[in-house]
Amino acid sequence: MTTYTAPIEDINFLIEDVLDYHSHYAKYLSYAEATPDMVEMIVTECAKFCETELAPLNQSGDKEGCQLKDGKVTTPKGFKESYQAYVDAGWQGISHPVEYGGQGLPPSLGLIRSEMLGTANWSWSMYPGLSLGAMDTVIKHGSQSQKEIYLPKLTEGVWSGTMCLTEAQCGSDLGRISTKAEPQKDGSYSITGSKIFISAGDHDLTENIIHIVLARLPDAPKGTRGISLFVVPKILVNEDSTLGEANAVSCGTLEEKMGIKASSTVTLNFDAAKGFLIGEENKGLEYMFTYMNNARLGTALQGVSSAELAYQISLPYVKERLSMRSLTGKKFPEKEADPIIVHPDVRKMLLTQKAISEGGRAMIYYAAKVLDELEQCEDEQASKALDEKLGFLTPILKGFLTELGFESANLGIQVLGGYGYTKEWGLEQIVRDTRVSTLYEGTTGIQALDLLGRKMLMERGKTLRSFANEIMGFCKGHSLISGNPHKLRMNKFIWPLTKAVFNWQRYSLQIASRAQKDRDLIGSASVEYLMYSGYITMAYCWAMMAQTANEEIAKKPENIDFYRAKVRTAEFYFERIFPRIKTLGKTMMAKPRSLMRITSEQF
Ligand SMILES: Cc1cc2nc3c(=O)[nH]c(=O)nc-3n(C[C@H](O)[C@H](O)[C@H](O)COP(=O)(O)OP(=O)(O)OC[C@H]3O[C@@H](n4cnc5c(N)ncnc54)[C@H](O)[C@@H]3O)c2cc1C
Repeated sequence: MTTYTAPIEDINFLIEDVLDYHSHYAKYLSYAEATPDMVEMIVTECAKFCETELAPLNQSGDKEGCQLKDGKVTTPKGFKESYQAYVDAGWQGISHPVEYGGQGLPPSLGLIRSEMLGTANWSWSMYPGLSLGAMDTVIKHGSQSQKEIYLPKLTEGVWSGTMCLTEAQCGSDLGRISTKAEPQKDGSYSITGSKIFISAGDHDLTENIIHIVLARLPDAPKGTRGISLFVVPKILVNEDSTLGEANAVSCGTLEEKMGIKASSTVTLNFDAAKGFLIGEENKGLEYMFTYMNNARLGTALQGVSSAELAYQISLPYVKERLSMRSLTGKKFPEKEADPIIVHPDVRKMLLTQKAISEGGRAMIYYAAKVLDELEQCEDEQASKALDEKLGFLTPILKGFLTELGFESANLGIQVLGGYGYTKEWGLEQIVRDTRVSTLYEGTTGIQALDLLGRKMLMERGKTLRSFANEIMGFCKGHSLISGNPHKLRMNKFIWPLTKAVFNWQRYSLQIASRAQKDRDLIGSASVEYLMYSGYITMAYCWAMMAQTANEEIAKKPENIDFYRAKVRTAEFYFERIFPRIKTLGKTMMAKPRSLMRITSEQF
């Protein structure tokens, strides 16, 4: 059976030492409640909930899956009870506005909660996870009355939310959606159409489900400019906030999927369902981006979660499993053979998992700080810059971390050999569960186009330059010519990082210039560009962690093993993972000719 132990020491290392969340929270009056004691309480209590309530349902939920009967979806045994416990403990609204029943804590704390929920049981975590996006959309773009009607129950968690974008003919290309919205005399809209692959679209955990739906008005312009956003409750809500009659929304099919079997994924049919416009007509896709950015950060977490869980299963196994002897002579002569942790190749796989999970967590927590700053920023220009930075980081985190999370889960199977391939150990489930993370919320290909096309080329490299300057500033401040007392130890990280950031900007300029002659270069380079950017962002995070660990070794010698492990994992990352950028740099700059010359018929 898989179990989960929340990596509290790793989490605290980031929030207390590397990223200093405490001083960051102390800067803002609205985060006054986020005292160190409160943060510690949230982390430990959430860890307990995840370890005892959610982790035990991970494998049983996978085995049982969801069921569709008479148009209603039921979740696996134990899901309802644990969801009720989650609601009773007030976990859903920890970082949502106090006026709607939330605790008003920083969004970064909400992400830490989501990471633990997701690692313990990803399928379960999708039910509250989808609601978070719906809540954010209503908060940012809903009318006052929509906020009053929907937010209190969503914040409490007794209602949940969904995101209804995809239709049979289009997922990435949302400009082609055809669900119709016809204005009614009473100011509402009649919504007709089918949405497919809707996560948490129907289930038995909450008394109502609030669907956020993309649809088109009769006279709307074609393409993405003619899409509007609607709130469509499963059960209509009376003026006094009590539940009224059922809306015309039905669940058609429950998808049979490769993984996340305990998360319901359904087709929803809207048959002249009553919907209410969010914001202005034809601005739906623009509004949806708020939802998508948060959802994409939430999905990036799946990469970290699967890497962490796969590592947690692999680690005890490699210490127990015996096979042959170490190449440098017996390490455990009292045993029949040495445990496989002595073998360099096994260590390479284990360290890759560790580097991805801890490096990925650092990337998310780093971005979460930007999210907090953006929420608190009152200056228009500074707010724009923060929004652009988050917009730049989001596709990197989503695309890169989900790809690496899958790699890490897959390595887990390899580490366990034949046992990894069996159900008992839970690794094959992680591989099946996490495979979808590179697809939903925008495929890696779509994230890559967003990064290179919109966030780099259309912005003329503005955000890239400012992020690159920040990393270069860090490198300078810790280099051989700085006053950093650990500069000699840090040089092995600082020098390759400096070179890579320089090349990142050089390649970006070259792509911008060559793409003017050949637009296909954007598409042929984009995924490599995204991965290149991801490896650099992770290298920056590992360099920061190594610097902090070096400082802490002197301050807390009693924890020397923990900090040394950080420095050694950083060394591993820089020596054996970071050099992947060399190949990426080469392939990303190759001309698209070999991709484009072969005709469709010649395939
Ligand atoms: C389990 C699951 C849960 C989901 N949950 C939800 C949900 O809650 N709500 C919701 O609305 N949707 C949901 N989806 C749908 C999901 O977001 C889409 O499947 C995804 O966005 C991809 O769209 P698609 O399947 O239509 O693939 P397509 O868009 O057809 O893409 C197919 C391939 O073509 C590539 N491609 C497409 N266009 C381009 C281009 N212009 N340039 C380069 N490459 C391109 C893609 O990268 C991909 O590799 C879910 C899907 C799954 C499997």
